[in-house]
Amino acid sequence: MRGGRLARIGPAYSVCAESFCGLLAVLTSKYWHQATLQSFGLPEVLKRLGYRVSFMLGVDHTNFYGLREAYGKAIDEYRDGSMLDGSSAAGYMNDDMAVLEWLAAWQPQAGVPQFLYVHLMSVHTLGTRHAQFSRWQPAEVGLRVLRAGNRITAFVNNYHNGVLQADTVIERIFGLLRDKGLLEDAVVVITADHGEMLGEQGRVGHSRHAPAEPLVRIPLLIYDSEGVTYPARPMASQVDVAPTLLNRIGAAIPQGWAGEALDAPARRRFVYMESGGSRAVVAPVRGSLWKYTEAESGGAGRLVNLTQDPHEEADMPAQPAEAAANVAATLRAGLAEAFGKAARP
Ligand SMILES: [Zn+2]
Repeated sequence: MRGGRLARIGPAYSVCAESFCGLLAVLTSKYWHQATLQSFGLPEVLKRLGYRVSFMLGVDHTNFYGLREAYGKAIDEYRDGSMLDGSSAAGYMNDDMAVLEWLAAWQPQAGVPQFLYVHLMSVHTLGTRHAQFSRWQPAEVGLRVLRAGNRITAFVNNYHNGVLQADTVIERIFGLLRDKGLLEDAVVVITADHGEMLGEQGRVGHSRHAPAEPLVRIPLLIYDSEGVTYPARPMASQVDVAPTLLNRIGAAIPQGWAGEALDAPARRRFVYMESGGSRAVVAPVRGSLWKYTEAESGGAGRLVNLTQDPHEEADMPAQPAEAAANVAATLRAGLAEAFGKAARP
């Protein structure tokens, strides 16, 4: 960042709170309510533009809800955790050291543009934690903490150890890309498929919860070897990743894509997310960033001023009722734009 080559974009949102929809949103630039299993996504476009497409994925994406199939047929080289064999030092499909091994052995052909997609498991509950990253103790793996509130600290420690490990794995990936001469002309996006509850609202883990901020706020960092400016914006989404990469190489963005290029000024008014039977919209209104969440089944929605309450902790917005009603109407109109008529008038 000090060198002007890494932009931190945010606040950035996942489209949902689960891996399947989050991963597809990054590659296909579709919100979850727009997703199909045969999307025309980033791999298809880049393949047509002459790129070689390689996927190196921690954990088994082949059998996880058919993700591999949903990734499409444009992938030239594919590896995931289900394909580990005895030659790997990593003994488990959720060990990111396997991804580092694949990357170290990867020999991209000189002169051919490359699209490389990497999935890491270090932060995930199931991800292998190596001893040198177990800085915070006690650390507890698994969701058993759900039934033992006093062990939330151990769950959070495990998460933090995973973040520390992911940081190191990402550093090593950059080192490998540099060694292969690929970083001199590259755009690298670092992001996540979803967030995680770490005791907020009394919850841990992800999925099956309404899309609260800790669940849908994700990191979004862009390393750009040309030091291109990524303008500040009120909010961003996973759906922006694919259009940004195409815009950076001067390629046209498919019309059906939901995102906008992050190297251009912000134009959109709303971003969407859904999870646990609720959907939400985030939008800047009158100098603040607001979020409106409602259950698909109807009932009263929930309005939060994220500028004042960025972790969505307060029960009620600290706004005059009339002003809040006007903002809520704007955001409900945004929801209706995406999902059709709002559940309540
Ligand atoms: Zn996930």
